[in-house]
Amino acid sequence: MSKKTETPRTYFKCDLLIIGAGPAGAALAVFLSATGLNIILIDKKSHIEEPLRCAEYVPAVFTGLFDFKLRGIDNSIDKLQTFINVKPCGAIKELNLDNLHHASEMKAPGYIIDRREMIKDWITRFTKYGGIYLPSTKALKISGRQVTALKDGRQIIIRAQIIAGADGPLSLAAGHIGSAGGHFLAGINLKCKNINTGRISQSTKVFFLPEIRGGYAWVFPGRKFTNYGLGVDLALFCRHFEKSGIQKHLFYQIFGQVLSDSEDKRAKLSSGLIPVSGITINPVQKNIILLGDAAGLCNPVTGAGIYNAVYSSRIAAEYIKEAAAVKSTSVLQKISKEYNVYFKDSLNRALVKRKEISAGWQNQKTTQQFEKFIKKTWVAFRQYWN
Ligand SMILES: Cc1cc2nc3c(=O)[nH]c(=O)nc-3n(C[C@H](O)[C@H](O)[C@H](O)COP(=O)(O)OP(=O)(O)OC[C@H]3O[C@@H](n4cnc5c(N)ncnc54)[C@H](O)[C@@H]3O)c2cc1C
Repeated sequence: MSKKTETPRTYFKCDLLIIGAGPAGAALAVFLSATGLNIILIDKKSHIEEPLRCAEYVPAVFTGLFDFKLRGIDNSIDKLQTFINVKPCGAIKELNLDNLHHASEMKAPGYIIDRREMIKDWITRFTKYGGIYLPSTKALKISGRQVTALKDGRQIIIRAQIIAGADGPLSLAAGHIGSAGGHFLAGINLKCKNINTGRISQSTKVFFLPEIRGGYAWVFPGRKFTNYGLGVDLALFCRHFEKSGIQKHLFYQIFGQVLSDSEDKRAKLSSGLIPVSGITINPVQKNIILLGDAAGLCNPVTGAGIYNAVYSSRIAAEYIKEAAAVKSTSVLQKISKEYNVYFKDSLNRALVKRKEISAGWQNQKTTQQFEKFIKKTWVAFRQYWN
């Protein structure tokens, strides 16, 4: 390399490097913040959770994962309503979504969260205890205990006893240990200011239509904002789905008037991948641990992954403390077992259903066939659990 192109490197040393400050990484940082461990948390984004790629629903049990009061809890949710062969767009215009005919209504207590506010608070708590948070820092390469990253255009080297890969669906850490999944839903979401100043709905709504291949559209109501979005199975679309703009087109087809009615001109569509390959077989290798989406913990049918991401961090936090106490990373292997105990059954059932969805979606020729198919493959129906 010529002298001109050489950039000076900065070196960091720590007990634990967390790659990714999403729910999994930021939760791990906050869970371990008071332990005295020397922890660095990095994220390639310059601002926490920007862009936001989420519809922000979590189940009620989520708050039980924390021993402090969570910030960013927004709207309480009671129910999940499922619609089949019903389009939400006209109904949104008339603000009467609650009057639409649903195919099922099930109890699903939970919350719509303000994910950005919540994660900002975790990171603030972490840094108050002396944790180091480095935004705009992208991990490029892992070799042994060393991670090379790019921070604001400069290479930095971080040496860590333990590396936590909380770097989401296209995880570098998962790729490094040969545990990356390959099947995704492409999600698109619009967080839009509410125009309806009256009663705020307490139900999340999902819409199944044949054209939303292998996925569904959602309306998740917050108190001030509502998340409108949809996810489609990439295996049922062309590979360059996101780039081709089909997703955006489909979004406007489904939600029609949302943007123009909302007067929220700042609302922006954001898109992201949802991993649906199921739990990775090998989430721990030597000193590397995978968490959340990087470990394939997102539900392959619902696409929900926040709760599991944070739960995986709780599990990992316990074993990281133990590893630090005994000065050996071999105890980290127990994390794999714990993941299997907590996640395997539900994620494997969902994975079987995901395969059924991918294989059968295109074969449902009539509305009756389509309805029957959704009832077999969606969590809100008895047939899913049989
Ligand atoms: C459109 C959409 C809607 C969704 N809605 C819901 C929902 O309502 N409820 C729910 O439970 N789940 C939902 N999910 C899934 C949920 O968002 C994920 O399961 C969850 O965010 C997983 O958390 P995570 O921390 O593992 O990964 P992520 O949230 O993906 O966080 C990973 C972080 O790592 C950073 N990163 C990635 N690579 C690097 C690198 N090389 N170096 C440094 N940093 C890096 C990223 O910038 C990111 O901040 C949705 C997903 C999408 C796409």
